[in-house]
Amino acid sequence: MSGYFKELFSGTKSLAVGLGITFRYMVKPVVTLQYPHESLQMTPRFRGHIELIPNEETGEPNCVVCGMCQKACPSNCISLAGEKVDGVKGKVLTKYILNFTTCSLCGMCVESCKFNAITFSKEYNLAGPSREAYVFDLKKRLEDKKQ
Ligand code: SF4
Ligand code: SF4
Repeated sequence: MSGYFKELFSGTKSLAVGLGITFRYMVKPVVTLQYPHESLQMTPRFRGHIELIPNEETGEPNCVVCGMCQKACPSNCISLAGEKVDGVKGKVLTKYILNFTTCSLCGMCVESCKFNAITFSKEYNLAGPSREAYVFDLKKRLEDKKQ
């Protein structure tokens, strides 16, 4: 009979402890997100793939097609092109491709740009079915963002 009461006591105690933990966490602030409906706010120093910075007034890329980022990249991830346009000083960016499959996020491209034209994005949840999905047309991405 004493074994029965011992078991009853131990079961009740364990239930009380379990419920205590449950109630404690019920009133604590939530630390999880309803992904993918909610996204994390990345820290200022987070490095996602690079992206073009638009001009505040025109919305066009700040890039002047100097090619310094392309030269600085140790992994040959960047290929870009520009053209002369009547009435515009310097060149206008026509293509900026990033091959993210070989990018090490070293930051040499961002550091080498003297025109505030590229930065690290806050992109953290990339997914794709093939390597080609990670070759990004950054100019198109910037245009898509505007819409
Ligand atoms: S270094 Fe800057 S301005 Fe020059 S091509 Fe690269 S992104 Fe454009
Ligand atoms: S972060 Fe480094 S590896 Fe990636 S594109 Fe820039 S320079 Fe190249």
